Amino acid sequence: MNTQTTSKTPVALTIAGSDSGGGAGIQADLRTFAFHCVHGTCAITCVTAQNTVGVARVDAMPKEAVIAQIHAVVEDIGVQAAKTGMLLNQEIIAAVAQEVETLQIDNLVVDPVMVSRTGAQLISDDAVQTISHLLIPKAIIVTPNRYEAQILTNLEINSLDEMKAAAQMIHRELRAKAVLVKGGGMQESLRGVDIYFDGQNLETLSTKQVDTENTHGTGCTLSAAIAANLAMGKDLFTAVQQAKNYLTTALSHALDIGKGQGPVRHFF
Ligand code: PLP
Repeated sequence: MNTQTTSKTPVALTIAGSDSGGGAGIQADLRTFAFHCVHGTCAITCVTAQNTVGVARVDAMPKEAVIAQIHAVVEDIGVQAAKTGMLLNQEIIAAVAQEVETLQIDNLVVDPVMVSRTGAQLISDDAVQTISHLLIPKAIIVTPNRYEAQILTNLEINSLDEMKAAAQMIHRELRAKAVLVKGGGMQESLRGVDIYFDGQNLETLSTKQVDTENTHGTGCTLSAAIAANLAMGKDLFTAVQQAKNYLTTALSHALDIGKGQGPVRHFF
């Protein structure tokens, strides 16, 4: 891991897509880093034209441009933790996985953005395979939602026990060091419940359920908060617990903007 920094300020890097509506992606990640007083840096993988109603267009960055951004940041500033969000295509995923290995970025949080919270697949099957086999083994933690965990394991996930089985399988078969299976897209009783597994500890993390339609950016915010906490030197389990609490507060202050699903609020 490159720990060179120009000051004692912790630095985190997000490798993710831009959301023109400001709710998810890079915009959510940088606000989350800022809330935690962590200096935020970014490598943009794609540019989405979207608002609270939907995504009108997605343009990928060339993989060389993504790698150049990561390189520029790490070479000069150094990062204590990084996260990946929407990587969009197989080429970018493979290039990022290679670069993370070359630069020895150990504190890597992988949010395997593949499926929206409503269940729609966002990336190709080839890209799913590349995330599974090249990127997840390099993660300190991977944070799939229920649908992503289903794709990664081929298990049907409808209950807490099935979430636990999926977390254990992702750890064992995809060699993720730790896994957080998120219950956000589950039925009412499991909505605030996530399963954490690090090979030894299997924990059920529960927070109060927040009753809001404005949930855009929840996955991004959670993974960015974990990365911010890791950048500050917290241990992984503490980083996850505190990130989950932060997300719950951000959700309970969610913004009712636009005609569709508004974003969580990062400063309150
Ligand atoms: N990254 C980008 C650029 C997006 O546009 C989206 C969703 O629209 C996401 C990530 C995932 O968002 P969420 O945190 O709501 O899962």
